[in-house]
Parts: sequence; C-alpha cells; structure tokens
Amino acid sequence: MHNVIEALKILSFRTLFDAIADAAIVMENTGHVVLMNPAAQQLFGYNENELMGVAVEMLITPRYRKQYRYYQTLFLDKPAKLPMGTGNEIMACDRSGQEMLLDMSFSPIEVQQQLYVLITFTVFRQRLKVEDTLRVREECLRLAKQAAGFGIFDYDFKRGVVYWDRKMREFWGGYPGEVISYEGFVAMIHPADRVGRQAALDYAMNPASHGEYKAEYRVIDPLEKTERWIAVAGRVYFEANSATRLVSVVRDVTEQKIFQKQLRIPRNEAEKIFEQQAAARTASAIAHELNQPLTAISAYSEVVLQTLRNDNFDVKRLKNALQGCVEQTQRAGRGLHELIAFLQKSELAAESLDLNDVIREALDVVVSDGSGKFRTRLKLEKDLPAVQCNRTQVHKVLVNLFRNAAEAMRTADSPILTIITQVQALNDKRMASVIVQDNGPGLDQTMAKRIFEPFFTTKQTGIGMGLAISRALIEANDGELWVEPDGEPGAKFHFTLPFAPESYLS
Ligand code: ADP
Repeated sequence: MHNVIEALKILSFRTLFDAIADAAIVMENTGHVVLMNPAAQQLFGYNENELMGVAVEMLITPRYRKQYRYYQTLFLDKPAKLPMGTGNEIMACDRSGQEMLLDMSFSPIEVQQQLYVLITFTVFRQRLKVEDTLRVREECLRLAKQAAGFGIFDYDFKRGVVYWDRKMREFWGGYPGEVISYEGFVAMIHPADRVGRQAALDYAMNPASHGEYKAEYRVIDPLEKTERWIAVAGRVYFEANSATRLVSVVRDVTEQKIFQKQLRIPRNEAEKIFEQQAAARTASAIAHELNQPLTAISAYSEVVLQTLRNDNFDVKRLKNALQGCVEQTQRAGRGLHELIAFLQKSELAAESLDLNDVIREALDVVVSDGSGKFRTRLKLEKDLPAVQCNRTQVHKVLVNLFRNAAEAMRTADSPILTIITQVQALNDKRMASVIVQDNGPGLDQTMAKRIFEPFFTTKQTGIGMGLAISRALIEANDGELWVEPDGEPGAKFHFTLPFAPESYLS
C-alpha cells in the first residue's frame, strides 16, 4: 500500500491527462489549445502539435461557434466547474469535416496564478442518429437553397441584429460578417423602397396577420453603386403575442424586373405616340372648326366698324352684324364645351338608375328648349330592371339624339313629326335597349358610316362632335350605340346599357 501511494505521488499530470478515456483539451484563458490527450487527438483527427496554439473554437462547426463562444465567455467570467449534462452541447467537426454532437465539461485549473481550462468532450451516441437525420435535412435545404439561388436571414428583434447566410451577404454587396446590425441591414435598402418595406413588416408583426411577410425592394451596393431588386418571403415568430424574430427567404429578381420594364417601354411609347397623334388631330380639328366662326366674327366686326364710321349709320345693318357675331361666338363656345364634357367623362361615377326616368327628363329638355315642334311617343317597358350607368352622361346622349332628330325633321315635309322612344329589356344579355326613331329624311348607307366621325356635320352651324361624344359616353358605360341605316321612316338610333348587378341577382 505504501508503495502504491509513493508511486502515485510521482505520477505526472501528463500521464494522468493522457490516460483519460474521454477526449480532453487544456486551453489557456485566451481560448487557445495547450494540451490535447490521445482520446481528443483520435476524436478530432489532429495530432497535438497541429492544434497547439489554435483556438478551440476552430474545432466547432462554424454555425455553432457563436454558441461556443458564449459558453466559453460565461465560464471565463466566472470560472467554476461546469460538468457535463448541464446543457453544454455543441456540434463539433473532425478533420474530415464529419460533424458530431458533443457534450462538454469545463474545469478551471490554476497554475502559478494563471488560469487554464480543462475541457472534456463526450460524444452523444444516443443522439447521433437524430442528428444525422437533421444533418441530412439541413444538407438538403442547403442544396435546394443553392440551386434556387435563395438567401436566408434571421432578424432577431430583441437584439436588433440580423444573422444571414453567404448568399444574402452577396446580395448586400458582399458584406463580410455573419451578423449585421439591423440599422446596417436597412441602410443599404433603397431609400424610396424603405417605407413600403416597413409597411409590409408592420403588417407581418401584427399577430392578426399570422406573421406573413412579403416585400420587394432594391438594395444598393455601397461600392459599385449598382442596385439589385430583391423579393422576400418570410414569417414573423411571436412569443406571448409579441414579435421576436423574422426568418425570411430572399431571391434576386433584378433580371425579372428589367424584363418587365423592357416590356413596358414599347407600350408606353406606343401610347404616347397615339396620344400625340390624337391630340394633334383634335387640335387641328378644333383650329379648323374655330377658324370659320372666327373669320365670320372678324368680317361682322369689320361691318360694324365701317357702319359706325358713317354718321348716318344704318341701325338694322349694325344689328344684323352684331347678331352674327353673337351666333358665331355661341357656335364656337358650344363646340368647346362639348369637347370639355367629353374629356371629363372619366371623372363621373356609375349608379343604379331607372332608365325610363332619364328618358322622360331628356325629352322634357328638348321639348322646352325650342328645338322644334314635334310629337313624342314613349313605348317604355314597365318593371324595367335598373341600369348601371352615369346619369349625366346618359342624359347628355339622349338630349343629343332627340335634338338631332328634331333638327333633322325640320327639313322634312311630313305633316306629323314624331319622335318615338322605345325601351326593351334584353334579359338574355342583361342589357336594356333604347331606340330613338324620327320620321325625318333618314340616313343612307354612306352617311350612316360617317356620322360617328368627329367633326362630321351636314349642318351649317353644326360642330359634328355630338354623335362621336355620344358613342364614347355609351361605351364608357359598357353599352353600344349604333344607327340602323335606311331606317323606315327617318333615322333609327339604338343604344344599350347594362342592368345593375343587384337588379337581376335579386
Ligand atoms: P352635329 O351636331 O354637327 O349635327 P352630330 O354628331 O350630332 O353633329 O351629327 C352628325 C351628323 O349626323 C349631322 O350633321 C347629321 O348630318 C347626321 N344626323 C344626326 N342625327 C340625324 C338624324 N336623326 N337624322 C338624319 N341625320 C342625322
């Protein structure tokens, strides 16, 4: 017994250390390896010399290093034994890259007031299978991510930091660190896109949204000054109804955006050219139309001046000339008003209304404004479903059709001038049909083709915009306006308007 005690007294620390069955490492308080026993050399596949002076964290799988550093700092701040099974599990990596889940224990050793740490590792054999499966899954995810070119980030709201993978860092102009402050992350987002992105995030952070986050924004490369379009889809996680983190998958959609933009350019240009042509045509037509009344006004004014120069001027001549001025001014004004009304049509809203009422109102206007003497016959349909349209616009169309009919009939020699207005429900088409018929001279095929052209008129003081505007207004209300050529007797105009949805659903 005495011999045994003596023998143990001379047993060196090194012999004892090398005899430990578990893998063991001694490190300095800086985290660097000073000793490594044979079990550790076998477990990690390195010999002691290779790891001498190397940081222990180099043996830890990169994505667990942060966690390891946390254990290490915790221990070095307050060196007390941290035995196994107290949650110091970590994923480490051997020389061949094989990952293994290890349980670690930390023990302080003080030699000449210098702190060293003995770390022992044991392999979590019972967990290996689960970890293997997880590793396979992780690998699959990594491959899928790589194939699709996705980046992933994890924004920790409490700490205000973003953990991101390599791909994400590439998107953000090759930022070097695995962690970035949230402010740094946002600073590279295009200022014009920040508000929209924040709105999407605010929505996702509201528990009512189930955390769904979707956004598209531009990221500016600080060095290259180039921008990249990013599409993000992610989920916010909550703890006790408060958002704690956002995990997202990110895609670079720059090419897609460029393609979409290219598609839009020719359309925009085509639209612009069309608009310019339409504007030029309309402007020249207006100039042409105004030219006549302006020339006439100028001629009448000359007459007035000449007449006034004469002391015994002829009052009747003066009156006629001034009357001519007034008429021509009114003609020009009417044309411009109609154009303005046409251009403003898009600002008016549609409503559900009784078409029979609008017809009666429009007819009253034409009868009382002295457009001519004629009879009216209304063949209205009782219980006609309500139509969905803009009252002012349909009223304008009806007044125009009635006025045209009255004016056309002035030249006719029929003893009984009549405007017949017929209303029918086209139930199969869910439309109301209106026919305005007169017994004036009517229209032949050639005329019928031209009357909807802007500025086509056969009247001395006509503008030729009434029917063009009327057709545009009916079409703006989802209906159609046409004329039946060679209608007997006189002209026969048709138009349709859709029923209000509730009138045929009920
Ligand atoms: P304007 O107000 O100058 O008459 P419109 O667009 O209203 O312009 O009509 C264009 C032309 O269509 C008229 O000048 C006329 O020749 C013809 N027209 C319109 N309505 C009738 C009708 N009921 N009967 C015969 N011709 C018509």
